[in-house]
Amino acid sequence: MLTLESAVYSFDKNNAPIAHAADGDIVRFITQDCFGNQIKTEADHEDDLDFTHTNPATGPLYVDNADAGDVLAVDILDIQVADQGVMMTLEGYGALWPTCEVRTKIVPIRDGYAHFNDVKWPIAPMVGVIGTAPDGEPVPSGYSFNGGGNMDSRLIRKGATVYFPVRVPGALLAMGDLHATMGDGEVCETGIEITGEVLVRVRVIKDFKLNWPVTETEDFWFVNTNGRTCDIAIRRGYEEIQRLVMDAYGWDATDTTFYLSAQARLEANQAVLDENETDEEGDTFRVGVPKLSSKPRLIP
Ligand code: ZN
Repeated sequence: MLTLESAVYSFDKNNAPIAHAADGDIVRFITQDCFGNQIKTEADHEDDLDFTHTNPATGPLYVDNADAGDVLAVDILDIQVADQGVMMTLEGYGALWPTCEVRTKIVPIRDGYAHFNDVKWPIAPMVGVIGTAPDGEPVPSGYSFNGGGNMDSRLIRKGATVYFPVRVPGALLAMGDLHATMGDGEVCETGIEITGEVLVRVRVIKDFKLNWPVTETEDFWFVNTNGRTCDIAIRRGYEEIQRLVMDAYGWDATDTTFYLSAQARLEANQAVLDENETDEEGDTFRVGVPKLSSKPRLIP
């Protein structure tokens, strides 16, 4: 089995692949935390960070036979995390920053639980940064875009499959930024940031149009989108899920809109509510519909 360890700091068609995989291969990605493993204790703060080495994404992996216009399916087979995670307030960031002080919090992980002050909860490890390379300008791996990146969906966990548009030969898959748990919205801009490893299977679906990444869970399909404002991000999600449902179910736009209005889910991936200048800095959302056994899959 392939094991990948070295990281890049952008999704970039010019990043040299560190390995090649065939359609159907299982690959292990060993990942640093979003701070590049620089924060070790509660005495370490934002000022101690070298920001050129934050949000590392392990990869990129070149998947043979994946070409522009295809879709790369990534089955998340397993996620293992370390025995300690870190949370941090970042000066000036997040809706609640005005009420906070600069603080680093180490969160021990023991027996499958995150231990926080005098409470604990079960971990639910997820992949924050995951994506394929854009065909245009590079995107820093701390940002999100229509090929994925820092989408921060807590549904990208063991058992899920994530589908990505392939825009360059080989797709150039990279991932990192695991969280032991993350709340929807990730209001302070960090979940329980943690090192670990992700076991995935990569599959190529030839000639299928996808404008944004899609997460398939046990019972739902979710389109993941971003935008400079929440309105823009959510609108993109509605438009893409409408297109996918129309194509799969053979309904027109109006009936599909009725269906979404009656059955869709709209959830926040990351919604920290900062003012943004670009889409890539913006918040990320997911819009979903239930999987129906009587209808075709949204993605074959
Ligand atoms: Zn993170």
